[in-house]
Parts: sequence; C-alpha cells; structure tokens
Amino acid sequence: MQVLVLGAGQLARMMSLAGAPLNIEISAYDVGSQNIVHPLTQAVLGHGLDNAIEQADVITAEFEHIPHDILEVCEQSGKFLPSSSAIKAGGDRRIEKQLLDDAGVRNAKYFVIQSREDFDQAIEHVGMPMVLKSALGGYDGKGQWRLKEASQVETIWAEMAECMTASDSQAIVAEEFVPFKREVSLVGARGQDGAIAVYPLAENVHTNGVLTLSTAIADIELQQQAKQMFTAVAQKLNYVGVLALEFFDVDGTLLVNEIAPRVHNSGHWTQQGAETCQFENHLRAVCGLALGSTKLIRETSMINILGEDTLPDELLAMDGVHIHWYGKEKRTGRKMGHINVCGDYSGELQRKLCALADVLDKDTFPAVHEFAASFNQ
Ligand code: ATP
Ligand code: MG
Repeated sequence: MQVLVLGAGQLARMMSLAGAPLNIEISAYDVGSQNIVHPLTQAVLGHGLDNAIEQADVITAEFEHIPHDILEVCEQSGKFLPSSSAIKAGGDRRIEKQLLDDAGVRNAKYFVIQSREDFDQAIEHVGMPMVLKSALGGYDGKGQWRLKEASQVETIWAEMAECMTASDSQAIVAEEFVPFKREVSLVGARGQDGAIAVYPLAENVHTNGVLTLSTAIADIELQQQAKQMFTAVAQKLNYVGVLALEFFDVDGTLLVNEIAPRVHNSGHWTQQGAETCQFENHLRAVCGLALGSTKLIRETSMINILGEDTLPDELLAMDGVHIHWYGKEKRTGRKMGHINVCGDYSGELQRKLCALADVLDKDTFPAVHEFAASFNQ
C-alpha cells in the first residue's frame, strides 16, 4: 500500500516507521516547499501534488492547518481519510465548538468574537476570567490571551483586532476559564467498518502551553466518560483514522478542550506502552485493515525533548528508556524528539522518572524535575 501524508514532520516520519512491517509505504507532501519527500530522509521524491495523488492508494494528514484548496483536491480523488470536514473541525475552533455541541459533548462555555461589540457580549455571556483563542492557526498555546480583569480589556482588544485584520477569515473564540484539576487526553482509532478502539487515557503536563510530560493512566470511571465522548464525536464525523480528544478533568467530570483529527503527541507513549502504537493503528484504519489491540502492555510516560539535539549518553543504558529523535534542525523550543520510559508497574515507572531527573537538565525538562520533586516529598 502507498500512503501519501499531507505534512512532512515527525508524525509522518513515525507513520513511516510503523507502516514498514505491514508493507505500507509512506511519502509525505511538504506543504511549505510543495515537494513530495521521503518522510525519514526528507529526500525529494517529486514535485507538486497531482502525480503523488494518482500514485497513492490512500491519502491522509499529519496536521490540521492545511490550505483548503489542497484538501479539496485530495478529497476529490476519493482517497482521502479522514474526511476534509474532520480536518477543518480540528483547524477552526468555531467549527470545532459547533461539532462538540452537535455531538452532545460537554465543553467550556464560549462566544465567537468578530467585532468590538461581540467582545463586550462575550464578557457578559462567558464572564471573567476567560481564555481567548484565535479561531484559526493556533497551536502549542500560541494565539491566546487570558482576560482576568476589566483593566486588561483595551490592551487585549488591540492585540486581538490586529490578529483579526491579518486574515479575513480569522475570528476569536472566547471561552470560560475552566478551573481544572488536571488535563487528560484520549487517543483512539475508528476503522472503515465503524469499529472503535481507544487507548488508556493519558495525563498531560503542559509547560508554557506546550506538552512536556504525558503518562498513561488507569481510571475506569474517567475512561468510560472519555470513550463515550470519543464515540459521539467520531460517529458524528463518520471518522476514519486516529483521533485525539483533549479534556479538562474538573473533579472527576470531563470537559472536551479540543480535538485533533490525527495522531497526537499525547499518544507517543503507545510506541512502547501499547500492543499496537497509534501510528500503526492510524494506518490500519485508513487502509481499511482491522485495528490492532490498544491494550496497555507496560506503564509508560512520554517526555518531549524541546530545543535540544543531544542527551546524556547514560540514558541509552537505562533499562526501559527509549529515545525517538525526529531528525530536525535545532531551534529554541522546537519539538526535536521524545523519550518513552517504561516500568512493569507504576511504582517502577515513577522510580525511573526520578532517575531520569538526576541526569536530565532542569531547564530543558522541567516537568520531569517537578514530578521527581513531588514524588520525593
Ligand atoms: P495544542 O498544542 O494542544 O493544539 P492549542 O494552542 O491548540 O494547543 P489549547 O489546547 O486550546 O491550545 O490550550 C493550551 C492550554 O491552555 C491547554 O492545554 C490548557 O492548559 C490551557 N487552556 C486552554 N483553554 C483553557 C480554558 N478554557 N480554561 C483554562 N485553561 C485553558
Ligand atoms: Mg491543546
């Protein structure tokens, strides 16, 4: 099978690694350069999309911010999965919020802002404190504002107005501030036959809006809530592939924060921790194959490597520690790779995270150090 992935980053790379044993071959469309590239070497395999679409058996995407004309061309080929409407829901917070409401899934109260009058209405409807998010183009906490008190209104409005004039289709979604206890996410797959398989929930730690640590957890009650919401959204979209739902856990009640119509950073732990990893299951789903088991086989955490291209040598010698580099050029804050760390039981995983804190730099891996500090208290 030949699968063309829109986007040529680490997610396409990891799909390629996971697809090889099943004879699934990946080529990647680099939206920036418009080249077709090899997802591991980045070697140019061709130019332009048309040929690649013709040669592919299946087309899928590794990110949601894809120009709509490209999505249309891919969809017209009849080979694109999940549907372009699913990708658009992940890329536009207005569509996403409407989808969550239509699917009957709990989410934070919101109001769409396009003018100064709307902003005043949003303050009335949603109340302060509130989180303001650009409808298009946001990721890793970028394009967001926090409004806590009336004195900030004018400054924030000026910045939001500037953001909206940059693009005609831009808007701001105002959301109530959710006083969550923690953040969790559910990654799962839906096959072409409608079968659904979800992984155990992951608990996620963000540092400055970026995911830094993600750990698979066992919580039967939360898992049930999450699976029910996942099923509602996936069925509403007639979704095929891997889909991720991010949640706020408010004292045992889950609210959906956002969806990602693709393999997700909080699912990277499945490479070592689950019977079948998320990348393989995404490919199985879009290629019309049976889904693989999502069972947890080892307690696992994933640690993002941000802005660094080397790690202490002793890491590779540590039992249960697996390094995944993305082959990217070093840039401050950039996702360069991740570390999966496994234990046979949760106490062992916790001890290994503490051992990692002893060798990893505190500034680069704050979440691991915070974990170790709280564990050793
Ligand atoms: P991602 O990289 O996950 O796509 P993003 O830029 O799309 O991130 P969100 O996930 O919506 O943005 O928000 C980033 C983080 O900001 C969340 O993980 C959460 O910690 C915080 N946050 C977002 N919305 C709210 C809210 N309504 N109330 C409280 N905190 C929030
Ligand atoms: Mg998010």
